[in-house]
Amino acid sequence: MNTALAVDPGTLDREKVGFFRYALVGEKVLLTNDAGEHLFLAPGDFRRFIAGQIGPDDALYEPLRRRYFFKHDFDAHALADKIRRKKAFLSHGPHLHAIVTSLRCNMSCKYCHASRTGMEAVDTDMPLDVARKAVDFAFRVHTPVLGFEFQGGEPTVNWPAIEFIVDYALEKNRYEKKELIFSVVTNLTFMTDEKVKFLLDRGVMICTSLDGPQDLHDQNRGMTGKGSSYAAVDEWMAKINAEYVRRGRDPDLFHVDALMTTTRASLSRGKDIVDEYMRRGLRSVHLRPLNPFGFAVNTWKLIGYSMPEFLEFYRRTLDYIIEQNRRGTFIQERMASVFLTKMLTPDEPNYSDCRSPCGSGSAQLAYSYDGNIYTDDEGRMAAHMGNDFFRIGHVDTSSVDEVLRHPTVKALAVASIQDALPACHSCAFKPSCGIQPLHNYMFDGDIFGQRPLSRKCQEFYGVQQHLYELLSRDADGSLERIFRRWTIQRSRPGTIPYVPPGEANA
Ligand code: SF4
Repeated sequence: MNTALAVDPGTLDREKVGFFRYALVGEKVLLTNDAGEHLFLAPGDFRRFIAGQIGPDDALYEPLRRRYFFKHDFDAHALADKIRRKKAFLSHGPHLHAIVTSLRCNMSCKYCHASRTGMEAVDTDMPLDVARKAVDFAFRVHTPVLGFEFQGGEPTVNWPAIEFIVDYALEKNRYEKKELIFSVVTNLTFMTDEKVKFLLDRGVMICTSLDGPQDLHDQNRGMTGKGSSYAAVDEWMAKINAEYVRRGRDPDLFHVDALMTTTRASLSRGKDIVDEYMRRGLRSVHLRPLNPFGFAVNTWKLIGYSMPEFLEFYRRTLDYIIEQNRRGTFIQERMASVFLTKMLTPDEPNYSDCRSPCGSGSAQLAYSYDGNIYTDDEGRMAAHMGNDFFRIGHVDTSSVDEVLRHPTVKALAVASIQDALPACHSCAFKPSCGIQPLHNYMFDGDIFGQRPLSRKCQEFYGVQQHLYELLSRDADGSLERIFRRWTIQRSRPGTIPYVPPGEANA
């Protein structure tokens, strides 16, 4: 709550005014509510609103009424439907299953933490019997959509496990009939034509890391031996994207996706990063801050930064992205599109790191190479740093029920229900925000964290405030039209029901 606009309880007309949260954004007062509605008011109109002085003849009455800001004259069923739609994700079990096929990796990225091992550590490859049990476990979860995401280390160093999991899951799905989605997060340095054929034949999406132009990328993402990791990204992105086109796939939907991580060296390079993404025809860039789990103090001094420094970078780079859209090039910022979907549409993007309750253990699970099951991939990383709190089962011994009802999963859910969290419950951004308790735990030592001091809160608050501020100044609606385009996620068809050669007529 903005103290400059504190509502004097004596002036509040409790009979007329419905539930709302508010904040001063730029020169306007932003009203929000749990139906995901928002409205900007001039400060004088805001005072008239809370005093119950806006009646049916007032031009502001209808916009306020339609958005459920009055206690009377509204459709309660429609309001309930809106809230239900926003929380529809609660009716399914975890849909995202991250499988760590190996901890081995041939790179030494500056921001990589405890969980990677050297290439000689073959004992950190997932055996095929563990892979089979992980797939069996995932299929037992109640969810119509099942996403398998291969993570590492570098997951493709254990290629047999990826081949096995994909084909075994496809075979099982002949009877299970779920919507299957596969993706592999890879540095592309072990890619071959045969692997590309396998992945594309079965509709496995490929995601790589691209931190910006070559000098920045190679500075952040060094190889353990000689060579440039950018060269592999450059070569294989081009080859794979050309192969999609050769197969007649729409390049807007089918291409190698990319993720970037912001280091200190990135802070002055926002424009270069966006240009690099646009040059490759990418339609989305995710300006991700560092996830500073487990860094040595000296490493953090080298590549880390404060949250105000990150937000300054974010705002400047977002402005540049918006400018490109105004010039006719469609490119969205991924975190902005998550928030904007919550702010401008009746839908919830179900982004696990920005949900309430959070998705750890309830929207996603992570399977380590040894069969241990974690609430999510960050929980697995925490375990490699010596903290087993987020281990919630094992593929050999645990039932789905035991995993999903694990005390840690319950605790994480309780710690991320923002209606009950100090600061969140009255924050104007609460309807479009979310909590990641694991992040709080790693930073502050407790899963509840302390807002507004927690780093994630500062990030989410800063980004949402900037988006709302831009919208509050958007007199001709041209920016909102751009932002609404960012909320349209054209869905890719899931996996291809691959029929092995020779079985086509069986
Ligand atoms: S985490 Fe911070 S920004 Fe988000 S709702 Fe809570 S107080 Fe507001």
